[in-house]
Amino acid sequence: MTYPTILISGASRGLGAATARIAGQMGANVVLAARSEGDLKAVAQDIETAGGRALAVVGDVSQAADCQWMVAETVRAFGGLDVLVNNAGVIEPIAPIASGDPQAWRANWATNVHGPFMLTQAALPYLRQRNGRVINVSAGAATKVIPGWAAYSSAKAALNHFTRLLAKEETDITVIAFRPGAMDTAMQATIRHKGASGMPAEVYSHFVHRFEADELLPPQVAGCALAVLTFHAPHEWSGAFLQWNNAQVQSLVRQYACSSGA
Ligand code: NAP
Repeated sequence: MTYPTILISGASRGLGAATARIAGQMGANVVLAARSEGDLKAVAQDIETAGGRALAVVGDVSQAADCQWMVAETVRAFGGLDVLVNNAGVIEPIAPIASGDPQAWRANWATNVHGPFMLTQAALPYLRQRNGRVINVSAGAATKVIPGWAAYSSAKAALNHFTRLLAKEETDITVIAFRPGAMDTAMQATIRHKGASGMPAEVYSHFVHRFEADELLPPQVAGCALAVLTFHAPHEWSGAFLQWNNAQVQSLVRQYACSSGA
């Protein structure tokens, strides 16, 4: 078997880091991208120490030049690109539409929507050569109505439709929108620490309760499903929005014996 080269944005922590570690264990060449150099290099070092192959590329997905650099470094290091995982994401601003800061909205969409677009555009010439995959990390918020989350939710809804359009336009590659479920990561901490003023009290309490009741899953659980999809998502699924615990996704996870270790 030849092992794929996978570029994962937002791999300095949370779901991206968990997925990078699992994909590294599965034998992939893993390229990790994010802005926090120290955290990013630490995850890459862990993967190498465990016997994997990893490269850290520091950059901001909201910047076109950084997206091109991430792809160029991937190809320079590993000779091509098989899979792009658009995982980098931000939740803020958490605020009603009536009072949301336009600059903060612009920053949210720059990372959550424009970033995946720019990385995909840079990656496509290489993905086409290898009948590769793009996996866009979306969220339940793309279809649920959560007051205060308009910037994030509408960005994820846009990402889902971007996924459908890309699947239609690029028939030689496989494109999936992935829903990881509620995970115990820095993003959920931001909701608890900064969400009280921007969400209705009962909605905010729900998120605090889920954390206190230990209902948030470790990111390794969805990371396992995501890593298996990077290797094995079948072309017939192109354009779909798939939750981590979808029966077909979990059937693949069992088939390829991914263990989250969680
Ligand atoms: P997280 O722990 O906050 O991690 C977010 C990652 O994105 C970090 O590595 C961060 O690194 C990176 N990032 C943010 N802005 C970036 C930018 N402009 N350029 C490059 N990297 C950037 O969040 P997470 O929970 O793992 O989220 C991962 C994905 O899952 C996101 O797309 C999120 O929307 C989705 N999701 C999360 C949940 C949940 O419950 N946590 C639920 C559904 C969906 P730097 O700060 O170092 O750049």
